[in-house]
Amino acid sequence: MSLRSLLLALSRRPGIGRAMDRWGATRRLVRRFVAGTTPADALAVIRDLNARGIGGLVTYLGENVRTPADAEHATGVYLALLAEARRCGLDCAPSLKLTHLGLDLDTQLCETNLTRILERGAGARVWIDMESSAYTERTLDLYARLRPRHPGAATVVQAYLRRTPGDVERLVTLGAALRLCKGAYQEPAALAFPDQRDVDAAYARLAERLLAPDARARGVFPGFATHDERLQRFVIERARTLGVPAEVFEIQMLYGIRHDLHAPLRAGGVGVRVLVPFGEDWYGYFMRRLAERPANLVFLLRNLVKK
Ligand SMILES: Cc1cc2nc3c(=O)[nH]c(=O)nc-3n(C[C@H](O)[C@H](O)[C@H](O)COP(=O)(O)OP(=O)(O)OC[C@H]3O[C@@H](n4cnc5c(N)ncnc54)[C@H](O)[C@@H]3O)c2cc1C
Repeated sequence: MSLRSLLLALSRRPGIGRAMDRWGATRRLVRRFVAGTTPADALAVIRDLNARGIGGLVTYLGENVRTPADAEHATGVYLALLAEARRCGLDCAPSLKLTHLGLDLDTQLCETNLTRILERGAGARVWIDMESSAYTERTLDLYARLRPRHPGAATVVQAYLRRTPGDVERLVTLGAALRLCKGAYQEPAALAFPDQRDVDAAYARLAERLLAPDARARGVFPGFATHDERLQRFVIERARTLGVPAEVFEIQMLYGIRHDLHAPLRAGGVGVRVLVPFGEDWYGYFMRRLAERPANLVFLLRNLVKK
């Protein structure tokens, strides 16, 4: 088993997170990727990003809630966040997980919660994250159902999944706002490319598809979510060659990762949006960040040894 697979397997064991919470070293590293525990912590980071010409995405951390009350609580937090962001005039869109809004409990409950957030957004973008492949079909079906009534609804596809080219065609037909990411979950080789080079090649092909003239004509808005400089350059060069204006796509990145790339991208006239997570339920998100870059684990272990 690779280190990545091990970390991703551990990411589904929240009991380990509760134990890790007691270690100061973990908390310090978590704070590198998570803005804090409260909505105000996230909005303060987004205010700073906006001041530098960078848009915000905000995620209230949590997934796979077990009760309707927890789904209701998550929905309430997003509603209050949106109201506060609007009151402060911030450029800030929610990026949420359907299992946080109750998808595991009841699709209708989840749809009702999501609809409330879309209505509060009043046409502004609301990004629906993509979780593991167990949820791909349900997420895209819900998106397709809601998109005609809610033009602000936006979703995500993962380049590592073998099915994604077909999903992208469906989403292009809908004129979707669509984030393209590599994919962060543990998936079997039958469903996802195990080799990183295949994932990168798939990402480039899908990026090209999302920038194609017919996708643009249908109103597709791509968010290219990656810190991979080579792919960022590829996207920007292809957009220039195809005459895609800078306003109709953006590069999306995560809080705490490759901040050094923000300024050069902005200086080159490229739109940048950074996802800022907050909340107590940091464990699954944090473990996926560790799995992406084992050097983060070395940092964590070194700090533990120092204690
Ligand atoms: C805005 C945004 C939203 C996302 N939403 C989703 C989603 O809905 N569903 C989903 O499955 N995935 C999502 N992801 C995660 C994504 O799928 C990848 O797991 C993640 O972005 C790492 O891949 P990469 O494209 O940056 O390339 P990589 O090849 O993994 O990384 C490229 C470079 O970025 C830096 N880097 C990347 N990750 C880290 C890290 N954790 N710590 C430190 N440095 C790092 C390193 O310098 C690395 O060399 C999202 C990512 C972003 C940026």
